[in-house]
Order: sequence, then C-alpha cells, then structure tokens
Amino acid sequence: MSATLYIDGTWRAAASGTVREIRCPADNSVVGVVAEADAADTAAAIAAARRAFDAGPWRQTSASERGDLLLKVAGAIDARRAEFVRAETGDTGKRPYESDIDMSDIANCFRYFGKLAAEDPGRIVDAGSPDIDSRIVYEPIGVCGLITPWNYPLLQAAWKVAPALAAGNTFVLKPSELTPHTSILLLSVLHDLGVPPGVANLVLGAGAVAGAPLSAHRDVDLVSFTGGLATGRVIAREAAATVKKVALELGGKNPNVIFADACDTDDRLAAAVDNALNAAFLHSGQVCSAGARLVIEESAHDRFVDELVRRAEQIRIGLPDAAGTETGPLISAAHRDKVHAYVEQARADGAIIRTGGAFATGDRGAGNLDGGYFYLPTVIDGATREMACVHDEGFGPTVTVETFRTEDEAVVIANDTDYGLAGAVWSSDTARARRIAARLRHGTVWINDFGPYLPQAEWGGYGRSGIGRELGSSGLHEYRETKHVYENLRPGVTGWFADAR
Ligand code: NDP
Repeated sequence: MSATLYIDGTWRAAASGTVREIRCPADNSVVGVVAEADAADTAAAIAAARRAFDAGPWRQTSASERGDLLLKVAGAIDARRAEFVRAETGDTGKRPYESDIDMSDIANCFRYFGKLAAEDPGRIVDAGSPDIDSRIVYEPIGVCGLITPWNYPLLQAAWKVAPALAAGNTFVLKPSELTPHTSILLLSVLHDLGVPPGVANLVLGAGAVAGAPLSAHRDVDLVSFTGGLATGRVIAREAAATVKKVALELGGKNPNVIFADACDTDDRLAAAVDNALNAAFLHSGQVCSAGARLVIEESAHDRFVDELVRRAEQIRIGLPDAAGTETGPLISAAHRDKVHAYVEQARADGAIIRTGGAFATGDRGAGNLDGGYFYLPTVIDGATREMACVHDEGFGPTVTVETFRTEDEAVVIANDTDYGLAGAVWSSDTARARRIAARLRHGTVWINDFGPYLPQAEWGGYGRSGIGRELGSSGLHEYRETKHVYENLRPGVTGWFADAR
C-alpha cells in the first residue's frame, strides 16, 4: 500500500513515487510500505488546506456540528479498536495492552474536544455604555501544520487534530517517519465520516524534507510541534520568518522528589518505589514526562535505591505479543545507540551504573530480543548537578539518582533544569508536599503520584519544555484567534475635528 498520503480528500502516492518500509523495532520485521513525501507533496497538502479554509464550507459549520464530528471520530476509533491497536503496536513495538490504553485515551481526547467545541463561544464585554455592543468571538486560526513524534504516535496527533478541528481549522499532519500507520487510519476515519476535501491532510516522510515546509510556508498560520528540543528550535526559527503562531512541546527532564517520610513504612516504600519504577521505565522511558530524575532525601537513599534496583532488574523486557512482556523496545537502532551513549557519558562523568547500562539481548523470558532494539532498565546512582546525565533528556529506560538534605535543597535541585514539563513530590506530610509543589517550576506537578494526565487539564511546560499548552480549554484556545467586535448602536458625529464648512 503506497497511496498513503491524504491530500485534498484523496489518497495518493508521493509525486516522486518514492516509498519507505516501516519496520517494527521489536524484531525489525516490515509492517508496511508507505509513500515518502517530499516538499512538493507537502506544498500540495498546504495548498489544499488553504483552499479548504479560505473557500470551503468547513469554517461555516457550527461549532456543535464540528463537535458532533469529533464524537463520531471517537466512536469510529472504538469500533475499529483492534485495527488501531495492531497498527500502533507494529510501528512502536509496544504491547497491544499499552496500545489499547492509548486508544482509550485518544477516543476520550476526541470526546473531550467534541463536547468543548460548542461550550465556549466567546463573551459579552461591558463597554460601559448601553449604546455599545462589545463582544469577544473566537475564530479558527486557519491552516495548521501538525508535526508529531514516534513515542505515542496517535495520542500526540489526537491532542492536535481534535482541537484543530473543533476550532474550525484545516490541517496538514506530518507524523514521525517511523510511525505513520495510526495516522493513516485516523485520516481514513475522517474521510469515511465525510470531512470535506482539504480540511484534513496527511503527509508522510522525513521531518527535514516533508515536515519543514509546515514551519516555513507562508500559507500555514500555525505550526504545532511535539518532539525534541533541537528540532523545536529549528521549527521556531523557520516559523519566525512568516511570524506564524508556534506551539511547542519539547519534552522534559522531570524530577521525582521523594522525602524520607514517603518511605518510612514498608507500604509507603513499596508505593513510592513502584511509582518511581513506572515513572522511569514505562514504555522504556520514551515518555516526555518520564520521571528520569530521582531526587531523594539522603537518609532514605540506600533503602530506596536498593529496592529500585531490585525491581528494575525484574522488569521483563520482551516482544509485544509474548506473554509476560512488561516493556518493549526503543524506537530504532539509532535511538538505542543514543541512549547508550548517554549512559556511557554518565559513567565517564563518575556516576555509578547500579544496574543496566547495556543492550538487552537474547531471550529474557518473553521472546528473543536479538532482532530488535532493547535496552536494560538502568539506574544511574551518585549523579550530581554538574553531570550531563542530570540535564540531558535520555529518552530511554534510565533514571539518575541525586540526594538532598533539606526542603530548600530539594526545590533547588528539582528546579535546576532548562526544561519544566512535569515533576512530582512524595511526602506523607501533606503541608510539606503542597509547599514543595507550589515551588516547583513545572507545568504539571503530581503529589504522591507520577504520570496521570487528564484531557480536561492543561499539559505543557515551563522553560524550554515549550510554548503553549495542549489539552484543557487552553488546548482548544491554541487553535483560535480572538476577535473583539465593537458595535456602535447609535453612531453620531464625534466632534473631535472641527467642521470647517
Ligand atoms: P524529532 O524532534 O526529530 O522528531 C519529532 C517530529 O519532528 C517527527 O515527526 C520528525 O520527523 C519531525 N521533524 C524533524 N525535523 C524536522 C524539521 N526540520 N521540520 C519539521 N519537522 C521535523 O525527534 P527525534 O525522533 O529525532 O528524537 C530526538 C529527541 O527528541 C529524543 O531523543 C527525545 O529526547 C526527544 N523527543 C521528545 C518527544 C516528546 O514527546 N516531547 C517525542 C520524541 C522525541 P521524522 O520522524 O520524520 O524525522
């Protein structure tokens, strides 16, 4: 199947005829062959989105009609759940169980924005005179370029596509070149639901080739990007030339701050370690909000880290369909090598690799790993703020361990990052936990938990974690222009300038 670009309501091959094999990172098997777009294909998609926005019927649809459409998208994803799960698992190597959870979150995201679409139409402004009618109305921004990564391929796309459509925009989606299949399925759902030609467009291919026009092109009004900091900088720079709106979600280096009183009983220790384990090793750490930076009170360090290491060594790494698999591969050989280089740098800087620090190979009880790109859960103890491993996003199954003695020190360490996406504080002293939470400079703060997010709550980062927010009502607002309509109900002579007649 190579007619996988969706442009102006039709499925097309790339103009150049180029295709790309998509391989599952768990075993390197080919899971599909898709069109490989170049800048000409993306230009065609942008032109279609522009026409559909400027002249098409989409903008004139009511917010409630658009909301209804999103609810139908949620229903269609549910109805085709098995197909979506298979596609996501094939591209990412994650377990079907995890892909299935993602699909629930994705359907809920469409439901949330479907309901929100018509709920917030604008407001009346008190202009201080009965003769003035003053209103704030929200309008779509126009053509949106949506660029998404490979770790949660369809979830990240849903966070952008759902609000973009809810607000009445048209879009061009460019998923990661590594994980296109669920985006193809999403566009087929929109096609089947009768979304007008040009409203929804999909281009597949290399970011620097097929994606780059979405930030540079003058006919794109907003570019929303999730991915790495380096690419985010390129996109912001390119977008500056046409002063388009930019939304960036660039990951994080997220502290998980643990006070000794959060692990002073066996039950508390078990809960805090278990959550720290999930925070660091869920989806093999390929999570923008991963708790990859454990910041623990010195007096609890030994007990906590011994237990963390014990649990990390028990994690069963395996093939997606093997019984007993608990986590899967890294997305590619290149990414696995990058994670390993990050760990080796930590070792060279004097940190102690308590466990892991190597490729996972052979059969570890859930299938043979030799054909894929697996990495052992890695605990990097003795880390200090001078080390690169504490500041750089590893984006793999790694967690660094730093210690603190006082509340103030905990806050200074936790905030010592260029990023600011998320963080957590664990304490059985509620007042202390809230005190610390209030001082953390991160977009999401969990207290005695790590990881949950809600579609109705804003998601995004302080600092270099990005610009703007996804989800919540702000997530819809990112895709809207705000217009003030000031109407004079009794126009008359102002008398400002003298009438010389
Ligand atoms: P990138 O930031 O390169 O990729 C994210 C998306 O941007 C992909 O669709 C990519 O396309 C696209 N892209 C790349 N270059 C351009 C460009 N010049 N113009 C437009 N689009 C572009 O992520 P990587 O895959 O290289 O991962 C690098 C690092 O980013 C990771 O190690 C991790 O630290 C971080 N990351 C953060 C994520 C997050 O959720 N915040 C998610 C993924 C990665 P293509 O895939 O085709 O190159």
